[in-house]
Amino acid sequence: MKKILLLSFFLLPFLTLAQKPASYNVLLPVDIPVALSGNFGELRTNHFHSGIDFKTQQVIGKNIRAIEAGYVSRAAVRPSGYGMCLYVTHPNGLTSVYAHLSAFSPRIDSVVRAKQHEMKSNNFDFADFDSLAMPVARGEIIAFSGNSGSSGGPHLHFEIRNTASENALDPLQFYPQIIDKARPRITAIGVYAMDDNSFVAQKRGKQFYTATAKGASGEYVLAKPIEVWGNIGFSIQGNDLMTGQSNVYGFYYVKLSCNKQTLYERVIDEISFATTNDINSLVDYEERAKSKRYFEKAFVEKNNDLEIYTKLHNSGIYAATKADTALCEFVVSDYYNNASSLQFTLLQKPLADSVLRKLPKLPETGEWFDCKEEFAYSLNDFTFTAGDKTFFTDFTFSAKEVTTPAKRTYYSKRYNIQTNQPIFKKPAQISVQTNLPDSLRSKALFERGGAAIFTKINEAGIATAPIKYGGTYGIVVDTTAPKITLNLAQGANLQQSKFISFKISDDFSGIGSYNAYINDKWTLLDYDAKTATVYLYFKYADLQPDTMHDLRIEVSDVSGNRAVKVARFFR
Ligand SMILES: [Zn+2]
Repeated sequence: MKKILLLSFFLLPFLTLAQKPASYNVLLPVDIPVALSGNFGELRTNHFHSGIDFKTQQVIGKNIRAIEAGYVSRAAVRPSGYGMCLYVTHPNGLTSVYAHLSAFSPRIDSVVRAKQHEMKSNNFDFADFDSLAMPVARGEIIAFSGNSGSSGGPHLHFEIRNTASENALDPLQFYPQIIDKARPRITAIGVYAMDDNSFVAQKRGKQFYTATAKGASGEYVLAKPIEVWGNIGFSIQGNDLMTGQSNVYGFYYVKLSCNKQTLYERVIDEISFATTNDINSLVDYEERAKSKRYFEKAFVEKNNDLEIYTKLHNSGIYAATKADTALCEFVVSDYYNNASSLQFTLLQKPLADSVLRKLPKLPETGEWFDCKEEFAYSLNDFTFTAGDKTFFTDFTFSAKEVTTPAKRTYYSKRYNIQTNQPIFKKPAQISVQTNLPDSLRSKALFERGGAAIFTKINEAGIATAPIKYGGTYGIVVDTTAPKITLNLAQGANLQQSKFISFKISDDFSGIGSYNAYINDKWTLLDYDAKTATVYLYFKYADLQPDTMHDLRIEVSDVSGNRAVKVARFFR
Protein backbone atom coordinates (compact mmCIF):
# COMPACT_ATOMS: atom_id res chain seq x y z
CA MET A 1 0.00 0.00 0.00
CA LYS A 2 1.49 3.31 -1.03
CA LYS A 3 0.04 5.58 1.55
CA ILE A 4 -2.33 5.47 4.43
CA LEU A 5 -5.31 7.76 4.33
CA LEU A 6 -6.61 9.34 7.46
CA LEU A 7 -10.32 8.80 7.32
CA SER A 8 -12.54 10.85 9.48
CA PHE A 9 -15.48 8.58 9.61
CA PHE A 10 -18.99 9.57 10.42
CA LEU A 11 -21.72 7.09 10.17
CA LEU A 12 -25.07 7.69 8.64
CA PRO A 13 -27.70 6.36 10.97
CA PHE A 14 -29.99 3.77 9.43
CA LEU A 15 -33.68 4.47 9.15
CA THR A 16 -34.93 3.61 12.57
CA LEU A 17 -37.98 1.53 13.33
CA ALA A 18 -41.01 2.96 15.06
CA GLN A 19 -40.49 0.77 18.11
CA LYS A 20 -37.89 -1.49 19.68
CA PRO A 21 -37.58 -4.76 17.72
CA ALA A 22 -38.39 -6.98 20.73
CA SER A 23 -41.74 -5.19 21.20
CA TYR A 24 -43.03 -6.23 17.77
CA ASN A 25 -44.12 -9.60 19.15
CA VAL A 26 -43.82 -11.52 15.90
CA LEU A 27 -44.19 -15.30 15.67
CA LEU A 28 -41.44 -17.68 14.70
CA PRO A 29 -41.60 -18.80 11.06
CA VAL A 30 -41.21 -22.48 12.03
CA ASP A 31 -43.23 -24.61 14.44
CA ILE A 32 -40.45 -27.11 15.15
CA PRO A 33 -37.89 -26.50 17.94
CA VAL A 34 -35.54 -23.66 16.97
CA ALA A 35 -32.06 -24.71 15.86
CA LEU A 36 -30.01 -22.31 13.75
CA SER A 37 -27.39 -23.26 11.19
CA GLY A 38 -26.47 -19.70 10.22
CA ASN A 39 -26.64 -16.27 11.86
CA PHE A 40 -27.02 -12.71 10.71
CA GLY A 41 -23.95 -10.96 9.32
CA GLU A 42 -21.96 -14.13 8.65
CA LEU A 43 -19.24 -13.56 6.07
CA ARG A 44 -20.23 -15.13 2.75
CA THR A 45 -19.06 -14.87 -0.87
CA ASN A 46 -19.69 -11.28 -2.03
CA HIS A 47 -22.28 -10.62 0.71
CA PHE A 48 -23.10 -10.69 4.38
CA HIS A 49 -25.64 -13.33 5.37
CA SER A 50 -28.74 -11.17 5.61
CA GLY A 51 -30.90 -13.48 7.70
CA ILE A 52 -30.82 -16.49 9.97
CA ASP A 53 -30.99 -20.11 8.83
CA PHE A 54 -33.42 -22.41 10.64
CA LYS A 55 -32.56 -26.09 10.55
CA THR A 56 -35.49 -28.20 9.40
CA GLN A 57 -34.52 -31.60 10.86
CA GLN A 58 -32.66 -32.44 7.63
CA VAL A 59 -35.87 -32.79 5.64
CA ILE A 60 -37.96 -30.61 3.39
CA GLY A 61 -41.68 -29.95 3.85
CA LYS A 62 -41.86 -28.37 7.32
CA ASN A 63 -44.60 -25.78 7.86
CA ILE A 64 -43.54 -22.19 7.25
CA ARG A 65 -45.78 -19.64 8.93
CA ALA A 66 -46.27 -15.93 8.42
CA ILE A 67 -44.73 -14.22 11.45
CA GLU A 68 -47.44 -11.57 11.42
CA ALA A 69 -50.50 -10.62 9.37
CA GLY A 70 -49.79 -8.94 6.05
CA TYR A 71 -49.68 -9.82 2.37
CA VAL A 72 -47.34 -11.54 -0.04
CA SER A 73 -45.83 -8.61 -1.95
CA ARG A 74 -43.12 -10.49 -3.80
CA ALA A 75 -42.63 -14.10 -4.87
CA ALA A 76 -39.82 -15.80 -6.72
CA VAL A 77 -39.25 -19.20 -8.33
CA ARG A 78 -35.63 -19.18 -9.42
CA PRO A 79 -33.01 -21.80 -10.38
CA SER A 80 -30.42 -20.41 -7.94
CA GLY A 81 -30.14 -17.80 -5.19
CA TYR A 82 -33.19 -17.87 -2.91
CA GLY A 83 -34.94 -20.46 -5.12
CA MET A 84 -38.64 -20.49 -4.22
CA CYS A 85 -39.12 -17.48 -2.01
CA LEU A 86 -41.89 -15.36 -0.47
CA TYR A 87 -41.78 -11.78 0.84
CA VAL A 88 -44.57 -10.83 3.22
CA THR A 89 -45.17 -7.13 3.86
CA HIS A 90 -46.63 -6.39 7.30
CA PRO A 91 -48.46 -3.25 8.41
CA ASN A 92 -45.91 -2.80 11.25
CA GLY A 93 -43.21 -1.57 8.88
CA LEU A 94 -41.46 -4.91 8.51
CA THR A 95 -41.17 -7.32 5.60
CA SER A 96 -40.40 -10.98 6.30
CA VAL A 97 -38.60 -13.16 3.74
CA TYR A 98 -38.78 -16.98 3.51
CA ALA A 99 -36.32 -18.62 1.09
CA HIS A 100 -35.27 -22.03 -0.32
CA LEU A 101 -38.88 -23.24 -0.03
CA SER A 102 -40.09 -26.53 -1.52
CA ALA A 103 -43.67 -25.37 -2.09
CA PHE A 104 -46.07 -22.50 -1.51
CA SER A 105 -49.38 -23.07 0.26
CA PRO A 106 -52.07 -24.07 -2.28
CA ARG A 107 -53.76 -20.65 -2.26
CA ILE A 108 -50.47 -18.75 -2.71
CA ASP A 109 -49.25 -21.27 -5.27
CA SER A 110 -52.27 -20.77 -7.48
CA VAL A 111 -51.80 -16.98 -7.55
CA VAL A 112 -48.02 -17.15 -8.12
CA ARG A 113 -48.28 -19.83 -10.80
CA ALA A 114 -51.06 -17.93 -12.58
CA LYS A 115 -48.79 -14.86 -12.68
CA GLN A 116 -45.96 -16.99 -14.09
CA HIS A 117 -48.32 -18.24 -16.81
CA GLU A 118 -49.48 -14.73 -17.57
CA MET A 119 -45.88 -13.53 -17.90
CA LYS A 120 -44.62 -16.80 -19.48
CA SER A 121 -41.83 -16.62 -16.93
CA ASN A 122 -40.01 -19.69 -15.61
CA ASN A 123 -37.15 -17.76 -13.99
CA PHE A 124 -39.63 -15.74 -12.01
CA ASP A 125 -39.26 -12.88 -9.55
CA PHE A 126 -42.24 -10.56 -9.25
CA ALA A 127 -42.20 -7.80 -6.63
CA ASP A 128 -45.45 -5.97 -7.33
CA PHE A 129 -48.25 -8.13 -5.96
CA ASP A 130 -50.83 -5.84 -4.38
CA SER A 131 -52.24 -6.25 -0.90
CA LEU A 132 -55.39 -7.98 -2.20
CA ALA A 133 -53.73 -10.75 -4.23
CA MET A 134 -52.40 -12.82 -1.33
CA PRO A 135 -53.32 -11.50 2.12
CA VAL A 136 -52.03 -13.72 4.93
CA ALA A 137 -53.01 -14.10 8.56
CA ARG A 138 -50.65 -14.14 11.52
CA GLY A 139 -49.35 -17.70 11.91
CA GLU A 140 -50.89 -18.91 8.65
CA ILE A 141 -49.00 -21.68 6.85
CA ILE A 142 -47.81 -19.88 3.73
CA ALA A 143 -45.25 -22.39 2.45
CA PHE A 144 -43.20 -25.52 3.14
CA SER A 145 -39.48 -25.55 3.82
CA GLY A 146 -37.14 -26.86 1.18
CA ASN A 147 -33.71 -26.85 -0.37
CA SER A 148 -34.39 -24.85 -3.55
CA GLY A 149 -32.01 -22.37 -5.14
CA SER A 150 -28.43 -22.08 -3.92
CA SER A 151 -29.00 -24.09 -0.77
CA GLY A 152 -26.54 -26.62 0.57
CA GLY A 153 -29.12 -28.72 2.43
CA PRO A 154 -32.70 -28.46 3.68
CA HIS A 155 -33.23 -25.32 5.79
CA LEU A 156 -35.25 -22.12 5.95
CA HIS A 157 -33.39 -18.90 5.16
CA PHE A 158 -35.38 -16.24 6.99
CA GLU A 159 -35.04 -12.46 6.93
CA ILE A 160 -36.72 -9.50 8.53
CA ARG A 161 -36.37 -6.28 6.56
CA ASN A 162 -37.31 -2.71 7.29
CA THR A 163 -39.93 -2.22 4.54
CA ALA A 164 -39.05 1.47 4.06
CA SER A 165 -35.25 1.19 3.88
CA GLU A 166 -35.23 -2.40 2.58
CA ASN A 167 -32.32 -3.06 4.93
CA ALA A 168 -32.15 -6.48 6.54
CA LEU A 169 -32.32 -6.49 10.34
CA ASP A 170 -30.92 -9.10 12.70
CA PRO A 171 -33.94 -11.38 13.30
CA LEU A 172 -32.54 -12.32 16.72
CA GLN A 173 -33.60 -8.83 17.89
CA PHE A 174 -37.23 -9.91 17.45
CA TYR A 175 -37.01 -13.30 19.17
CA PRO A 176 -36.01 -12.97 22.82
CA GLN A 177 -37.06 -16.61 23.25
CA ILE A 178 -33.96 -17.73 21.31
CA ILE A 179 -31.12 -17.93 23.82
CA ASP A 180 -27.42 -18.66 23.57
CA LYS A 181 -24.75 -18.88 26.24
CA ALA A 182 -21.76 -20.00 24.15
CA ARG A 183 -18.82 -17.67 23.60
CA PRO A 184 -17.26 -17.02 20.20
CA ARG A 185 -13.97 -18.69 19.38
CA ILE A 186 -10.84 -16.88 18.11
CA THR A 187 -8.70 -18.95 15.76
CA ALA A 188 -5.96 -16.68 14.43
CA ILE A 189 -5.01 -13.12 13.59
CA GLY A 190 -3.31 -11.55 10.59
CA VAL A 191 -0.77 -8.74 10.96
CA TYR A 192 -0.16 -6.48 7.96
CA ALA A 193 2.75 -4.21 7.11
CA MET A 194 0.72 -1.50 5.39
CA ASP A 195 3.47 0.00 3.21
CA ASP A 196 7.03 -0.63 2.02
CA ASN A 197 8.50 1.05 5.09
CA SER A 198 6.55 -1.13 7.53
CA PHE A 199 7.49 -4.59 8.74
CA VAL A 200 6.02 -7.57 10.58
CA ALA A 201 8.48 -10.10 12.01
CA GLN A 202 11.20 -8.21 10.08
CA LYS A 203 9.42 -8.79 6.77
CA ARG A 204 7.24 -6.83 4.36
CA GLY A 205 3.71 -8.08 3.62
CA LYS A 206 1.57 -9.97 6.12
CA GLN A 207 1.92 -12.75 8.66
CA PHE A 208 -0.66 -14.98 10.35
CA TYR A 209 -0.55 -16.14 13.98
CA THR A 210 -2.59 -18.90 15.59
CA ALA A 211 -4.49 -18.09 18.79
CA THR A 212 -4.65 -20.52 21.71
CA ALA A 213 -7.35 -20.65 24.36
CA LYS A 214 -6.20 -19.98 27.92
CA GLY A 215 -8.70 -22.19 29.73
CA ALA A 216 -12.47 -21.92 29.18
CA SER A 217 -12.97 -18.28 30.13
CA GLY A 218 -12.86 -16.96 26.56
CA GLU A 219 -9.33 -15.61 26.84
CA TYR A 220 -6.91 -16.31 24.02
CA VAL A 221 -3.18 -15.71 23.63
CA LEU A 222 -0.49 -15.94 20.95
CA ALA A 223 2.64 -18.08 21.40
CA LYS A 224 4.94 -15.04 21.51
CA PRO A 225 5.10 -11.27 20.96
CA ILE A 226 5.09 -9.94 17.39
CA GLU A 227 7.90 -7.71 16.20
CA VAL A 228 6.53 -4.77 14.19
CA TRP A 229 7.59 -1.43 12.78
CA GLY A 230 5.67 1.26 10.90
CA ASN A 231 2.00 1.26 9.93
CA ILE A 232 0.40 -1.97 11.04
CA GLY A 233 -3.05 -3.41 10.29
CA PHE A 234 -4.71 -6.42 11.86
CA SER A 235 -7.30 -9.03 10.95
CA ILE A 236 -9.08 -11.73 12.93
CA GLN A 237 -10.37 -15.21 12.17
CA GLY A 238 -12.85 -17.12 14.28
CA ASN A 239 -16.48 -18.11 14.76
CA ASP A 240 -19.35 -17.69 17.07
CA LEU A 241 -20.87 -20.83 18.58
CA MET A 242 -24.37 -21.49 19.92
CA THR A 243 -25.48 -23.53 22.90
CA GLY A 244 -26.38 -27.09 21.89
CA GLN A 245 -25.42 -26.69 18.21
CA SER A 246 -22.37 -27.96 16.38
CA ASN A 247 -22.58 -25.23 13.70
CA VAL A 248 -20.36 -22.18 13.53
CA TYR A 249 -21.58 -18.60 13.09
CA GLY A 250 -20.21 -15.11 12.47
CA PHE A 251 -19.21 -12.49 15.05
CA TYR A 252 -21.79 -9.85 15.97
CA TYR A 253 -19.20 -7.46 17.40
CA VAL A 254 -15.46 -6.94 16.88
CA LYS A 255 -13.21 -4.44 18.65
CA LEU A 256 -9.47 -3.86 18.37
CA SER A 257 -7.53 -1.70 20.79
CA CYS A 258 -3.84 -1.05 21.40
CA ASN A 259 -2.59 0.47 24.66
CA LYS A 260 -6.27 0.89 25.64
CA GLN A 261 -7.04 3.07 22.63
CA THR A 262 -9.83 1.72 20.44
CA LEU A 263 -8.60 1.56 16.85
CA TYR A 264 -11.54 -0.30 15.40
CA GLU A 265 -15.04 -1.29 16.47
CA ARG A 266 -17.88 -2.65 14.38
CA VAL A 267 -21.35 -4.11 14.97
CA ILE A 268 -23.51 -5.90 12.42
CA ASP A 269 -27.19 -5.60 13.28
CA GLU A 270 -28.44 -4.16 10.00
CA ILE A 271 -27.35 -4.86 6.42
CA SER A 272 -27.82 -2.63 3.40
CA PHE A 273 -28.03 -4.57 0.14
CA ALA A 274 -26.49 -1.56 -1.62
CA THR A 275 -23.19 -2.04 0.22
CA THR A 276 -23.15 -5.75 1.13
CA ASN A 277 -20.65 -6.42 -1.68
CA ASP A 278 -18.12 -4.27 0.22
CA ILE A 279 -17.58 -7.37 2.35
CA ASN A 280 -14.82 -7.99 -0.20
CA SER A 281 -12.99 -5.06 1.39
CA LEU A 282 -13.74 -6.19 4.95
CA VAL A 283 -12.33 -9.67 4.46
CA ASP A 284 -8.77 -10.42 3.41
CA TYR A 285 -9.95 -11.41 -0.07
CA GLU A 286 -6.58 -12.67 -1.18
CA GLU A 287 -6.30 -15.02 1.80
CA ARG A 288 -9.91 -16.16 1.30
CA ALA A 289 -9.18 -17.01 -2.35
CA LYS A 290 -5.94 -18.78 -1.48
CA SER A 291 -6.83 -20.79 1.63
CA LYS A 292 -10.64 -20.41 1.94
CA ARG A 293 -10.02 -18.86 5.38
CA TYR A 294 -12.04 -15.80 6.34
CA PHE A 295 -9.90 -13.14 8.03
CA GLU A 296 -11.83 -9.99 8.87
CA LYS A 297 -9.65 -6.92 8.52
CA ALA A 298 -9.74 -4.44 11.40
CA PHE A 299 -8.76 -1.55 9.14
CA VAL A 300 -10.96 0.25 6.65
CA GLU A 301 -10.06 0.93 3.03
CA LYS A 302 -10.83 4.28 1.35
CA ASN A 303 -13.75 3.15 -0.80
CA ASN A 304 -15.27 0.74 1.71
CA ASP A 305 -18.82 2.08 2.23
CA LEU A 306 -19.99 -0.39 4.89
CA GLU A 307 -22.04 1.21 7.63
CA ILE A 308 -21.00 -1.21 10.35
CA TYR A 309 -18.25 0.87 11.96
CA THR A 310 -19.01 2.43 15.32
CA LYS A 311 -15.48 3.59 16.21
CA LEU A 312 -12.36 4.08 14.10
CA HIS A 313 -9.02 5.65 14.83
CA ASN A 314 -6.65 6.21 11.89
CA SER A 315 -8.87 3.81 9.86
CA GLY A 316 -7.95 1.06 12.33
CA ILE A 317 -4.22 1.25 11.59
CA TYR A 318 -1.72 1.21 14.41
CA ALA A 319 1.38 3.38 14.05
CA ALA A 320 4.41 1.60 15.55
CA THR A 321 6.83 4.45 15.07
CA LYS A 322 8.91 4.45 18.24
CA ALA A 323 10.88 1.73 20.01
CA ASP A 324 8.45 0.45 22.62
CA THR A 325 6.12 -2.38 23.48
CA ALA A 326 2.36 -2.23 23.05
CA LEU A 327 -0.40 -4.37 24.46
CA CYS A 328 -3.22 -4.97 21.97
CA GLU A 329 -6.53 -6.72 22.34
CA PHE A 330 -9.24 -8.08 20.10
CA VAL A 331 -12.66 -8.47 21.71
CA VAL A 332 -15.39 -10.35 19.84
CA SER A 333 -18.91 -11.08 20.98
CA ASP A 334 -22.22 -12.47 19.80
CA TYR A 335 -25.65 -10.84 19.89
CA TYR A 336 -26.12 -12.10 23.47
CA ASN A 337 -22.93 -10.44 24.74
CA ASN A 338 -21.06 -13.70 25.12
CA ALA A 339 -17.52 -12.45 24.57
CA SER A 340 -14.00 -13.70 23.97
CA SER A 341 -10.77 -11.78 23.80
CA LEU A 342 -7.23 -12.15 22.53
CA GLN A 343 -4.39 -10.18 24.08
CA PHE A 344 -1.07 -9.92 22.30
CA THR A 345 2.12 -7.92 22.62
CA LEU A 346 3.81 -5.87 19.93
CA LEU A 347 7.55 -5.32 20.11
CA GLN A 348 8.12 -2.08 18.23
CA LYS A 349 11.62 -2.11 16.80
CA PRO A 350 13.10 -0.51 13.67
CA LEU A 351 14.97 -2.88 11.38
CA ALA A 352 18.75 -2.87 11.49
CA ASP A 353 20.24 -1.52 8.25
CA SER A 354 21.93 -4.88 7.63
CA VAL A 355 18.53 -6.65 7.77
CA LEU A 356 16.78 -4.00 5.72
CA ARG A 357 19.35 -4.16 2.93
CA LYS A 358 18.81 -7.90 2.44
CA LEU A 359 15.01 -7.69 2.51
CA PRO A 360 13.32 -8.46 -0.81
CA LYS A 361 10.91 -5.83 -2.12
CA LEU A 362 7.33 -6.95 -2.61
CA PRO A 363 6.64 -7.98 -6.21
CA GLU A 364 5.67 -4.94 -8.25
CA THR A 365 2.39 -5.14 -10.13
CA GLY A 366 2.63 -1.79 -11.87
CA GLU A 367 2.39 1.89 -11.16
CA TRP A 368 0.31 3.22 -8.22
CA PHE A 369 -2.97 5.09 -8.71
CA ASP A 370 -5.46 6.89 -6.47
CA CYS A 371 -8.69 4.89 -6.12
CA LYS A 372 -10.68 8.10 -5.59
CA GLU A 373 -9.94 9.24 -9.12
CA GLU A 374 -11.24 8.00 -12.44
CA PHE A 375 -8.75 5.93 -14.35
CA ALA A 376 -8.31 5.25 -18.07
CA TYR A 377 -5.70 3.17 -19.80
CA SER A 378 -5.21 2.16 -23.40
CA LEU A 379 -2.76 0.00 -25.29
CA ASN A 380 -3.16 -0.61 -29.06
CA ASP A 381 -6.86 -1.51 -29.48
CA PHE A 382 -7.35 -2.28 -25.79
CA THR A 383 -8.93 0.06 -23.23
CA PHE A 384 -9.51 -0.23 -19.48
CA THR A 385 -11.61 2.38 -17.71
CA ALA A 386 -12.43 2.63 -14.03
CA GLY A 387 -14.55 5.02 -12.00
CA ASP A 388 -13.73 6.66 -8.67
CA LYS A 389 -15.45 3.75 -6.90
CA THR A 390 -14.05 0.87 -8.93
CA PHE A 391 -11.26 0.03 -6.49
CA PHE A 392 -11.54 -0.33 -2.71
CA THR A 393 -8.15 1.24 -2.17
CA ASP A 394 -5.20 2.74 -4.05
CA PHE A 395 -4.08 0.24 -6.61
CA THR A 396 -1.28 -0.78 -8.90
CA PHE A 397 -1.97 -1.31 -12.58
CA SER A 398 -0.14 -2.45 -15.68
CA ALA A 399 -1.23 -4.24 -18.83
CA LYS A 400 0.44 -5.95 -21.74
CA GLU A 401 -0.46 -7.85 -24.86
CA VAL A 402 -0.12 -11.61 -24.49
CA THR A 403 1.77 -13.11 -27.40
CA THR A 404 2.37 -16.67 -26.22
CA PRO A 405 0.66 -19.35 -28.37
CA ALA A 406 -3.03 -19.63 -27.51
CA LYS A 407 -4.64 -22.93 -26.51
CA ARG A 408 -7.89 -22.04 -28.25
CA THR A 409 -9.11 -19.77 -31.04
CA TYR A 410 -9.30 -16.10 -30.11
CA TYR A 411 -10.99 -13.44 -32.22
CA SER A 412 -9.01 -10.54 -30.75
CA LYS A 413 -5.61 -9.81 -29.30
CA ARG A 414 -5.29 -11.01 -25.73
CA TYR A 415 -4.38 -8.61 -22.94
CA ASN A 416 -3.11 -9.29 -19.46
CA ILE A 417 -4.02 -6.92 -16.63
CA GLN A 418 -1.77 -6.91 -13.58
CA THR A 419 -3.02 -5.29 -10.39
CA ASN A 420 -2.47 -5.75 -6.67
CA GLN A 421 -6.26 -5.73 -6.16
CA PRO A 422 -7.59 -9.31 -5.91
CA ILE A 423 -11.16 -8.13 -6.64
CA PHE A 424 -12.68 -4.77 -7.60
CA LYS A 425 -15.46 -3.02 -5.69
CA LYS A 426 -17.35 -2.21 -8.90
CA PRO A 427 -16.72 -3.45 -12.43
CA ALA A 428 -14.17 -1.73 -14.64
CA GLN A 429 -14.91 -1.65 -18.37
CA ILE A 430 -12.59 -3.25 -20.89
CA SER A 431 -12.83 -3.06 -24.65
CA VAL A 432 -10.97 -4.63 -27.54
CA GLN A 433 -11.29 -4.74 -31.33
CA THR A 434 -12.59 -8.13 -32.51
CA ASN A 435 -11.87 -9.78 -35.85
CA LEU A 436 -15.09 -11.79 -36.01
CA PRO A 437 -16.90 -12.85 -39.16
CA ASP A 438 -20.44 -11.36 -39.12
CA SER A 439 -21.92 -14.80 -38.53
CA LEU A 440 -20.11 -15.14 -35.20
CA ARG A 441 -20.63 -11.65 -33.85
CA SER A 442 -23.60 -12.61 -31.69
CA LYS A 443 -21.71 -15.62 -30.29
CA ALA A 444 -18.64 -13.78 -29.02
CA LEU A 445 -17.67 -13.32 -25.39
CA PHE A 446 -14.67 -12.29 -23.37
CA GLU A 447 -12.94 -15.24 -21.73
CA ARG A 448 -10.74 -15.21 -18.64
CA GLY A 449 -9.24 -18.41 -17.29
CA GLY A 450 -11.84 -20.56 -19.05
CA ALA A 451 -14.81 -18.53 -17.78
CA ALA A 452 -17.20 -16.52 -19.99
CA ILE A 453 -17.92 -12.86 -19.26
CA PHE A 454 -21.09 -11.13 -20.44
CA THR A 455 -19.98 -9.01 -23.42
CA LYS A 456 -21.48 -6.47 -25.83
CA ILE A 457 -20.21 -6.05 -29.38
CA ASN A 458 -20.98 -2.92 -31.37
CA GLU A 459 -21.35 -2.31 -35.13
CA ALA A 460 -17.63 -1.65 -35.47
CA GLY A 461 -16.82 -4.99 -33.87
CA ILE A 462 -15.57 -3.50 -30.62
CA ALA A 463 -16.28 -5.76 -27.65
CA THR A 464 -16.87 -4.32 -24.20
CA ALA A 465 -17.39 -6.06 -20.88
CA PRO A 466 -17.52 -5.27 -17.17
CA ILE A 467 -14.77 -7.02 -15.20
CA LYS A 468 -13.89 -7.35 -11.52
CA TYR A 469 -10.51 -9.09 -11.64
CA GLY A 470 -7.09 -8.74 -13.20
CA GLY A 471 -5.93 -11.54 -15.49
CA THR A 472 -5.80 -12.34 -19.19
CA TYR A 473 -8.77 -11.45 -21.39
CA GLY A 474 -9.51 -12.30 -25.03
CA ILE A 475 -12.52 -12.83 -27.28
CA VAL A 476 -13.77 -16.36 -27.98
CA VAL A 477 -17.00 -17.67 -29.47
CA ASP A 478 -19.60 -20.05 -28.10
CA THR A 479 -21.32 -21.86 -30.95
CA THR A 480 -22.31 -24.96 -29.01
CA ALA A 481 -25.96 -25.33 -28.07
CA PRO A 482 -26.91 -26.40 -24.55
CA LYS A 483 -27.57 -30.09 -23.91
CA ILE A 484 -31.02 -31.42 -23.01
CA THR A 485 -31.14 -34.93 -21.53
CA LEU A 486 -34.65 -36.31 -21.51
CA ASN A 487 -35.23 -39.99 -20.80
CA LEU A 488 -38.69 -40.52 -22.17
CA ALA A 489 -39.77 -43.32 -24.55
CA GLN A 490 -41.78 -42.05 -27.53
CA GLY A 491 -45.48 -42.27 -26.69
CA ALA A 492 -44.74 -43.17 -23.05
CA ASN A 493 -47.76 -43.57 -20.82
CA LEU A 494 -47.45 -41.01 -18.01
CA GLN A 495 -50.90 -41.50 -16.48
CA GLN A 496 -49.33 -42.26 -13.09
CA SER A 497 -46.65 -39.54 -13.21
CA LYS A 498 -46.88 -36.19 -11.48
CA PHE A 499 -44.11 -34.64 -13.54
CA ILE A 500 -41.58 -34.99 -16.35
CA SER A 501 -37.99 -34.13 -15.45
CA PHE A 502 -34.93 -33.60 -17.62
CA LYS A 503 -31.39 -32.30 -17.30
CA ILE A 504 -29.94 -29.25 -19.03
CA SER A 505 -26.35 -28.03 -19.24
CA ASP A 506 -24.19 -25.63 -21.21
CA ASP A 507 -20.47 -25.83 -21.85
CA PHE A 508 -19.49 -22.14 -21.74
CA SER A 509 -21.74 -19.10 -21.75
CA GLY A 510 -24.35 -20.67 -19.45
CA ILE A 511 -28.09 -21.36 -19.58
CA GLY A 512 -29.99 -18.30 -20.81
CA SER A 513 -33.61 -19.40 -21.16
CA TYR A 514 -35.59 -22.62 -20.77
CA ASN A 515 -39.12 -23.12 -22.03
CA ALA A 516 -41.43 -26.02 -22.76
CA TYR A 517 -44.59 -26.28 -24.84
CA ILE A 518 -47.23 -29.01 -24.75
CA ASN A 519 -49.30 -29.08 -27.92
CA ASP A 520 -47.68 -25.72 -28.72
CA LYS A 521 -48.93 -24.16 -25.50
CA TRP A 522 -46.39 -22.62 -23.10
CA THR A 523 -46.05 -24.73 -19.96
CA LEU A 524 -44.45 -23.91 -16.61
CA LEU A 525 -41.00 -25.30 -15.74
CA ASP A 526 -39.17 -25.33 -12.40
CA TYR A 527 -35.40 -25.44 -12.84
CA ASP A 528 -32.96 -26.36 -10.08
CA ALA A 529 -29.50 -25.20 -11.20
CA LYS A 530 -27.51 -27.06 -8.55
CA THR A 531 -28.79 -30.44 -9.81
CA ALA A 532 -29.16 -29.17 -13.43
CA THR A 533 -32.68 -30.62 -13.33
CA VAL A 534 -35.86 -29.15 -14.79
CA TYR A 535 -39.32 -30.26 -13.67
CA LEU A 536 -42.54 -29.97 -15.64
CA TYR A 537 -45.40 -30.56 -13.20
CA PHE A 538 -48.59 -31.79 -14.88
CA LYS A 539 -50.73 -29.99 -12.30
CA TYR A 540 -49.74 -26.70 -13.98
CA ALA A 541 -50.17 -27.98 -17.55
CA ASP A 542 -53.98 -28.14 -17.91
CA LEU A 543 -54.00 -31.18 -20.24
CA GLN A 544 -56.97 -32.85 -21.82
CA PRO A 545 -57.01 -36.32 -20.19
CA ASP A 546 -56.36 -39.68 -21.92
CA THR A 547 -54.77 -38.07 -24.93
CA MET A 548 -51.46 -38.22 -26.75
CA HIS A 549 -49.54 -34.93 -26.23
CA ASP A 550 -46.64 -33.30 -28.06
CA LEU A 551 -43.90 -31.91 -25.86
CA ARG A 552 -41.30 -29.47 -27.14
CA ILE A 553 -38.42 -28.25 -24.95
CA GLU A 554 -36.34 -25.22 -25.99
CA VAL A 555 -33.19 -24.25 -24.13
CA SER A 556 -30.89 -21.37 -25.13
CA ASP A 557 -27.50 -20.37 -23.78
CA VAL A 558 -26.46 -16.78 -23.11
CA SER A 559 -24.92 -16.57 -26.62
CA GLY A 560 -28.27 -17.50 -28.16
CA ASN A 561 -27.40 -21.06 -29.22
CA ARG A 562 -30.60 -23.05 -29.04
CA ALA A 563 -31.32 -26.72 -28.35
CA VAL A 564 -34.73 -28.25 -29.05
CA LYS A 565 -36.03 -31.63 -27.94
CA VAL A 566 -39.43 -33.07 -28.88
CA ALA A 567 -41.29 -36.05 -27.44
CA ARG A 568 -44.78 -37.54 -27.35
CA PHE A 569 -46.45 -38.91 -24.28
CA PHE A 570 -49.87 -40.21 -23.30
CA ARG A 571 -51.71 -38.87 -20.30
ZN1 LIG B 1 -29.39 -18.28 4.84
